[in-house]
Amino acid sequence: MSETFPTAESAAGDPRTAELRERLAAVRQRISAATHAAGRSEEPQLIVVSKFHPAADVARLAALGVTDVGENRDQEAAAKSAELAGLPMRWHFIGQLQGNKAKSVVKYAYSVQSVDRPQLVEALAKAMARQQSESGRADLDCYIQVSLEDDGGAHRGGAAPSDVERLAESITAASGLRLAGVMAVAPLGAPPEGAFEKLAVVSQELSGLHPDAVAISAGMSQDLEAAIQFGATHLRIGSDILGSRPRVG
Ligand SMILES: *Cc1c(COP(=O)(O)O)cnc(C)c1O
Repeated sequence: MSETFPTAESAAGDPRTAELRERLAAVRQRISAATHAAGRSEEPQLIVVSKFHPAADVARLAALGVTDVGENRDQEAAAKSAELAGLPMRWHFIGQLQGNKAKSVVKYAYSVQSVDRPQLVEALAKAMARQQSESGRADLDCYIQVSLEDDGGAHRGGAAPSDVERLAESITAASGLRLAGVMAVAPLGAPPEGAFEKLAVVSQELSGLHPDAVAISAGMSQDLEAAIQFGATHLRIGSDILGSRPRVG
């Protein structure tokens, strides 16, 4: 039940911390090389996706200097963030989200990166109104998840590019929500470059109308280099840092 979490000092002799340090360094090296290759001066923000891995690993990551983690299920994220409430960690919600979970998510989430429909914007706005009056928390960063499938279908979630502007307007109209930018997952079975190029165009159109909404959350373990090439400002990296996820079900 009660695990003890490593501090920066106690982490030194912990084998799992040593493993994470090494894997994190390798990923940071790839990010740095890709940033340089793309002729960019600033590295994107690394979000380590901790889904299916225990809270103790998030504590280890914090001791290694990680400031941002991503989760895709409310139940798991709520439990971990509560357990680690003392850590200065930003929690990003990156999974499909039902409206009835909004109330829980706004208790811990710094951002929701999977906003894909007007009903979810409404649910988040309502939940934020309550949460801000109770806790005075900061506005919630919202990313519009864009589907990059050729047929505009929702196989891996996301709004069609043609729906992005309408969603953007509903987010900016809601108090408590801040429109941060766009998020996407590259479709399976095709080179990621084409998908991320498409996302860059969607982002450009969005930020033309909403100059603060410049964030592009793209790039996972397999395709972070392509994402950086096409302007990603945020990367969501899971397995290359934490190892393969335990299989569930
Ligand atoms: C799991 C997940 C990631 C991380 O994927 P890896 O391949 O493990 O790096 C990124 N984004 C989303 C939306 C995810 O669900």
